[in-house]
Amino acid sequence: MERIGFIGLGIMGSPMSQHLLKAGYPLIVLDRVSEAQKAIVAAGAQAGTSPQQIAEQSDIVITMLPDSPDVEEVVLGKNGVLEGLRPGSMFIDMSMILPSTARRVTEAVRKKGAEGLDAPVSGGQVGAQNATLSIMVGGSAAAFARAKPIFEKMGKNIVHVGEAGAGQVTKAANQAVVAITIAAVSEALLLAAKSGVDPAKVREALLGGFAQSRILDLHGNRMLQRNFQPGFKMKLHRKDMSIILDTARELGLALPASAAVAELMNAAIANGGAELDHSALVTMLEKLGNFEIPKVA
Ligand code: NAD
Repeated sequence: MERIGFIGLGIMGSPMSQHLLKAGYPLIVLDRVSEAQKAIVAAGAQAGTSPQQIAEQSDIVITMLPDSPDVEEVVLGKNGVLEGLRPGSMFIDMSMILPSTARRVTEAVRKKGAEGLDAPVSGGQVGAQNATLSIMVGGSAAAFARAKPIFEKMGKNIVHVGEAGAGQVTKAANQAVVAITIAAVSEALLLAAKSGVDPAKVREALLGGFAQSRILDLHGNRMLQRNFQPGFKMKLHRKDMSIILDTARELGLALPASAAVAELMNAAIANGGAELDHSALVTMLEKLGNFEIPKVA
């Protein structure tokens, strides 16, 4: 079996790496938070000391880090993955980062004679824990074929979308739909509640029609229950909105709905919402309308 190195053992990386361990892959792990690393080492993984050393001792290196600068530092920085990669080995980034950064990283990896994939995921903490993640992959067909058995240990809907960066573009598209839909559901429930119409009944009625969505179902319910425990943190979705809007700017594309929701997220974060679930976006619209959706019993 391929020897796997895994860097970034947070909310997502921790359960994802555990699945690889359970499947029998020899695993070497690294996180800058020692507690996160200790938990996986206790389950049977080897403790790594630097991204370079991880790459030297692995056939495939996977990263699951917060943002583009983190991936750049871990891969291209001093004692980074690139310094340890060998011809024939492979690097897979599963974080959500800028498509342009993903392309640059894959290019650098290929110059070392190794293969690179961008493979961000959707499905959240629950999807990571249940190995039911959706995985959207950019890179060569040969690299995808080699990585597929590994992806199958962590996810269910695994799609090779296109060349390097295509996985990140897909994830950006996903996050735009999610963000704009959260705003749409917030506005719908707020309109109903301030009209004196029961927003729970409105959600129930809408769930059977064309406006039906998982976000109306799950996050609509969170808004009615006033349950904003994360979930997916507002600050991470705000990071994703930056990626969407930066990419749009690089392309010369206007995305006014994404821009408006990003501004609402800025306001939510400025009002103490950084660590709340992204469905707490509704609270900013409530502030603007000076009206709060009543908690459903
Ligand atoms: P997290 O903050 O819980 O985990 C990131 C981990 O990376 C942390 O443990 C941190 O210590 C570690 N780390 C950061 N820099 C490092 C470095 N230089 N060296 C070693 N370790 C380092 O984040 P998460 O929720 O696991 O998300 C990871 C990525 O997955 C993000 O890009 C996020 O947007 C994406 N994502 C998250 C979710 C979700 O629901 N949480 C869902 C889909 C995608």
